[in-house]
Amino acid sequence: MKERARILVVGGGYVGMYTALRLQQKLKPELRRGEAEITVVTPDPYMTYQPFLPEAAAGSISPRHVVVPLRRVLDHCRVVIGEVTSVDHAKRTASVVTLATEEEGTGPDQLSYDELVLAPGSVSRTLPIPGLAEYAIGFKTVEEAIGLRNHVIEQMDIASSTRDPAIRDAALTFVFVGGGYAGVEALGELEDMARYASRYYYNVGPEDMRWILVEASDRILPEVGEEMGRYTVTQLRRRNIDVRLETRLDSCSDRVAVLSDGARFPTRTVVWTAGVKPHPVLAATDLPRNERGRLRCTPQLTVDGAAHAWAAGDAAAVPDVTAEEPGRETAPNAQHAVRQAKVLGDNIVHSLRGEPLETYSHKYVGSVASLGLHKGVAYVYGRRLRGYPAWFMHRVYHLSRVPTFNRKARVLAEWTLAGLFKREIVSLGSLEHPRAEFELAAGGKPPEDPKGSS
Ligand SMILES: Cc1cc2nc3c(=O)[nH]c(=O)nc-3n(C[C@H](O)[C@H](O)[C@H](O)COP(=O)(O)OP(=O)(O)OC[C@H]3O[C@@H](n4cnc5c(N)ncnc54)[C@H](O)[C@@H]3O)c2cc1C
Repeated sequence: MKERARILVVGGGYVGMYTALRLQQKLKPELRRGEAEITVVTPDPYMTYQPFLPEAAAGSISPRHVVVPLRRVLDHCRVVIGEVTSVDHAKRTASVVTLATEEEGTGPDQLSYDELVLAPGSVSRTLPIPGLAEYAIGFKTVEEAIGLRNHVIEQMDIASSTRDPAIRDAALTFVFVGGGYAGVEALGELEDMARYASRYYYNVGPEDMRWILVEASDRILPEVGEEMGRYTVTQLRRRNIDVRLETRLDSCSDRVAVLSDGARFPTRTVVWTAGVKPHPVLAATDLPRNERGRLRCTPQLTVDGAAHAWAAGDAAAVPDVTAEEPGRETAPNAQHAVRQAKVLGDNIVHSLRGEPLETYSHKYVGSVASLGLHKGVAYVYGRRLRGYPAWFMHRVYHLSRVPTFNRKARVLAEWTLAGLFKREIVSLGSLEHPRAEFELAAGGKPPEDPKGSS
């Protein structure tokens, strides 16, 4: 091993956190002797366990328990809260913007490294649809999930208090675009929560709400297979959810969702979950990308042709060595991200010690999805489950997967308490404007709600 290995990890999500964790375990003696140094650069001081976001939106798990504090878990790494804006791998430097550099106005910091792990994940894949950027919301972050929960309950409050039928209809119409697990689970959980909450409104019932799922292809939930996807469509329709297959959102200007089948829905809620694309920061590097913008990688998780650069997860095009057809890449999901992170961490250690590298190989085992409390669908190791057993499996699986014993215990405690008491139906949307009350008291103007929801 050379004198001192400076390892830079870009991103603190699945790949970033698990890779850094693996490295700090395996390089303990080197870290102690000062022969290795691990720096993790990420915009938030926590890793988000995204499969729990729909349950956080439904109020079954509190937002703090969906995230893992990086400083506590990565206690032998240097965690820098900031964003990498570009990478010059030829010079082994990365430009990093932090809150401090912004305040100081000094421009980005230049971080030098010896080994680079690029794991910035993906961002929502949007289209140039009129009104989308102004009115829609994504479903990838804990802020979006909790914001959406508050927003849905606020819409019910608006509908309950207005005398204008047009305002009431728009408030009670919820449009979700994209039938992958993020869209279907978010819709399933939020509809279930709103249906439950409506029992506390004297003038808003489940039949007054309109929930619409718009999907461009002829099926939803490809992750659980065709048969389970069809079952999910039937189940959602039985709950009065309007599932529109082979349909696209054409526009959502002026708060009217216009679909490709000609339907028009005045609405204050458009949730965009129509897929992801690799993070745009990858374009600001001198590393090779494929036609879809993912980093070209080898099965050993090195970036193709770039020594000392590594990548995995949503940002990386990793050849799927288990696939029968050649040229297939591993899909962007947590199942691969977690397993790749382990191999990636080990391979960096092998490389530093001059040992041969391991090959990443994992055959996709299927998926589980929750459609609301006690409702689910699963396709795992060739077995199909539906209803309560699938929902139960979803919970057991994700409880076993959520990082740290601390988070497992807290989530389990929350689920147990939720089984004993009534569900939470309160909106804390005012948390998004903590100074509003004081500004009003001090004679200022209260800030406008960017969503225009009240
Ligand atoms: C709602 C939802 C539900 C899901 N459910 C499932 C599921 O049930 N099963 C499953 O297998 N997968 C699921 N997924 C997909 C899974 O979460 C992703 O595939 C996984 O998070 C990818 O890991 P990653 O490390 O590549 O990216 P991420 O976990 O997204 O991590 C990327 C990290 O990089 C950081 N970052 C971004 N830009 C920069 C920058 N410029 N500089 C520094 N850091 C940066 C981000 O803030 C983030 O912390 C779900 C996703 C969503 C949104």
